[in-house]
This record gives sequence, structure tokens and C-alpha cells, in this order.
Amino acid sequence: MGDTRVTVIGGGLAGSEAAWQLARAGVAVELVEMKPERRSPAHVLPGLAELVCSNSLRSDNPHNAVGLLHEELRRLGSLVLGCADATRVPAGDALAVDRERFSEAVTARLSGDAAVRIVHREVEDLPPPPGLAVIATGPLTGDALAARLAEATGGRLHFYDAIAPIVAAESIDRSIAYARSRYGKGSGDDYLNLPLDEAQYHAFVDALLQGEKVPAHGFEEPRYFEGCLPIEVMAERGTEVLAHGPLKPVGLEDPRTGRRPHAVVQLRREDVEGTAWNLVGFQTRLTWPEQRRIFRAFLPGLANAEFVRLGQIHRNTFVDAPRVLAPDLSVRAAPHLFLAGQITGVEGYVESAACGLMAARAVLDRLAGRAFRPPPAATALGALHRHLTGEAHPPGYDYQPTNVVFALFPPLTGRFRGKAGRKEAHVERARKELAPWIDTAPPTAVPVPAAG
Ligand SMILES: Cc1cc2nc3c(=O)[nH]c(=O)nc-3n(C[C@H](O)[C@H](O)[C@H](O)COP(=O)(O)OP(=O)(O)OC[C@H]3O[C@@H](n4cnc5c(N)ncnc54)[C@H](O)[C@@H]3O)c2cc1C
Repeated sequence: MGDTRVTVIGGGLAGSEAAWQLARAGVAVELVEMKPERRSPAHVLPGLAELVCSNSLRSDNPHNAVGLLHEELRRLGSLVLGCADATRVPAGDALAVDRERFSEAVTARLSGDAAVRIVHREVEDLPPPPGLAVIATGPLTGDALAARLAEATGGRLHFYDAIAPIVAAESIDRSIAYARSRYGKGSGDDYLNLPLDEAQYHAFVDALLQGEKVPAHGFEEPRYFEGCLPIEVMAERGTEVLAHGPLKPVGLEDPRTGRRPHAVVQLRREDVEGTAWNLVGFQTRLTWPEQRRIFRAFLPGLANAEFVRLGQIHRNTFVDAPRVLAPDLSVRAAPHLFLAGQITGVEGYVESAACGLMAARAVLDRLAGRAFRPPPAATALGALHRHLTGEAHPPGYDYQPTNVVFALFPPLTGRFRGKAGRKEAHVERARKELAPWIDTAPPTAVPVPAAG
């Protein structure tokens, strides 16, 4: 194996998984983690793969997209899933873990692997070519490295994200919502619109002002972009501010009455097939229970809304992956560097681990001198890859982090018995498609180029 190594920077969910997958394939890895010498404001444990907030890896039911991703990762020999299973605590159909034992298990497996050398220091500069490196430093990437990455990616690195909620199409009341683009632009009916009369609008603004907000962490001082303000911050600036901003009704007359409502909430298609819709301009710091309560109670047409994702704003370093990364997750402007984890714009522990696995397989393909073989599109891994390349999104999509959801999968054809039948079809198709990709598992002991 010699002393030539692939460098993995960041020993979180993605970096630990990437290091493990590379080591399993016989590649020597140097895993560089800044803890315990330096910690991000959210990290407190000494070990690798720290879960910074919830101890849940979410649903373990394969009929849920993240549960299907669990299953795929297990089939691919994932370190993160293996250690999660070994340190699991009872949590219904969720996969929750004892976070300290989980981190200890991942740390023990990697530090006990002869192919992995763990180094503790903060990386402040991008590793030079020709050695290959995987950067997996997460949403709270150290400032110096983030600045270098921003330079290398032409400034396409976000530091805060403002996420608006997303609603499942079938839960929107179409007897209230009407399809129309402002002034009939585009195809004329690209958006769904929820009309509010004056009384409904004022009741909604009052609810926003009174709703419970998530307190900011000390390191998340609210530095909002003016073009991306939380709705409650806009509401604080004046009662009619929202009606002149994201809820502006001009050009959105209700075709059923011919009249212009006092305010209009617009929903924009989140995926090509229109299974999920984004509440335009609804980035918010309301707590998740408050978002569910207020949006269902005060927005006409959303009384039974099922939220695919809820809004949030927090520090989150991520690149505009469809533009910055090649399909193999290498940086277009610096192809010896691969990105993995939340820094690519996937969201969540499991998605980040999955991205680490994908990046490791891409590195192995590069080392073996063959073209990158992306995960099959209809698998949960493939759905995440479709998000990263932009294939899952309509043209002009404003790239934002996302969890894995069925809306990212290629559309299914045929008829299904309800939502459950559709999910079953997704799962069956994904299981079938993953098998050949597992069979093309990379060979062991591939040659490694000299590090720079
Ligand atoms: C406040 C907060 C709460 C969250 N809550 C949840 C939640 O409840 N559920 C969920 O699924 N996801 C949550 N997330 C997202 C979660 O953090 C990520 O999905 C996941 O941890 C990302 O994995 P990663 O490997 O990309 O990054 P991380 O797990 O953050 O790992 C990155 C690692 O890189 C190290 N590092 C950073 N910079 C450098 C450097 N320059 N040199 C060397 N090492 C470096 C860090 O110390 C860290 O160990 C939360 C994120 C934040 C910020």
C-alpha cells in the first residue's frame, strides 16, 4: 500500500463513512479531524461522527425515503449504519442511537483499521494536487478552509441557508388553491396560489408575530440577507409588508372570481412531477410545531397540509453543487478535490453519510482510471445524486439543502393504490436497481497516486 494516501478532511458522518469505504477497498487514508484541538460551536464530544443535535437517524421504515436509504447503506456495508444498529435505543420505527456509544463505535472501528491514519488538526488550506482529497467538513466548516473553498468555487458557497417549508401536493386543497403565474407568465399556471382576504391576512400576520420562534445559537447571530428575510421579521416591520413582498397579489387575480385577493401565498413546484410544493418566501425561524399549527390554521388551502420539510434558518456552509461539482462530486475547478456530506447541499445525518459513501466510490473509480458510475437513479442514493446534479429539479431551481424524499426520485409510471401503493412501487424499483451497483463494488487494492 506504501505511504501514499487519500486525504479525508473532517471526521463527521460523511468523512467517517468515506474513510471507511476507501479503507475497505484497500486504499490508505489520512483522516484529518480538527477535534479535540478545535471544535465548532455545535460539537462537544471528543470522537468522530458526532450527532450534534437529535440522536435520531429518522424513520427506519423503508417505505419512507430515509428508511430506504438506511436499507441501501446497510446493503453497501456502511460504517455509519452498522454502528447505528449496534448502538440503537428503542424509538418506535425510528433508528435512534446512544450518541456517545455511536461516536465511540465509529471512532474505534476507524482507529482500529490499519489503512486509516487519524490526524487531529484544523485544515486551513485546500490540499494541493495531485493527491486526491475528500472535503467533508460539514455545515460548520472552519472559517479559513471555508474561505479557501469559496475562492475555489467562484464564490458559490453559502454561509446561511434560509429554507422555506415544502408541502406534499396531495395535501393541498385544490378547491381553494388556484394555478396561475403572475401576469400569466411562463406557461401561465406554473404556481399554485392561496388567496387571503383582508381579515384572513391580518389574522395570519398576528399569528406570525405571536408564534414561538427558535432561539438563535450563540454562533448564529441573525445576519439575514435582505432578499431572504424570515417572514416573521418582515411582519415585524409593518402589517402590510408581507402583502407588498412575498404575498403580493398583483397579477394573481383569482380566475374563479376575477378579483384580486388582498394577499396571495404562492407555492412553487419543488420537483419536476409536481409532487411537492415550496411556500415561496416562507423562510422562517418559527418552531416546527408552530409552523404546522399556524400554516394549517391560517393559510386557506393548507388545513390538512402534510409538510415534506419545514422552514429553518441556520448557519450552513454548502456549495451550489449542480454548478460547482462534476457528477462524481469532484470540484470542477479543482478536480483532485471531492466534496462529501452536508457541504454539498444534502441535509441530515444519513444523507451526509450516504454522500460520503458516494464520494468514496467516486474516488475509487478515479483511482482505477474508469468513469464514475453514479448510483442508479431510482434508488434513494440515486435520488440524492439527482439532487446534487440538479437532475431532480426544474430549470432555474434555487439550489437549497434537502433531505432525501420521494419527490427527488424519477417519476413512476402506471396507476397505484393510493400513497401506500406508490411508495411500495418506489421501494420495489429501488431494490431491484441497487443490486447491480452493489455487484460493481470497487476492487480492493487499487493504485494510489502520490500525495502532493
Ligand atoms: C445546529 C445544528 C443542528 C443539527 N441538527 C440535526 C438533526 O437534528 N438531525 C440531522 O439529521 N441533522 C442535523 N444537522 C445537520 C447535521 O449536522 C448534518 O446533517 C451532519 O452532521 C453533516 O455531516 P457532515 O459529515 O457533512 O458534517 P459533520 O458531521 O458536521 O462533520 C464535519 C466534521 O469536520 C470537522 N471539521 C470542520 N472543519 C474542519 C477543518 N477545517 N479541519 C478539520 N476538521 C474540520 C468537524 O469538527 C466535524 O467533526 C444539524 C446541524 C446543525 C449545525
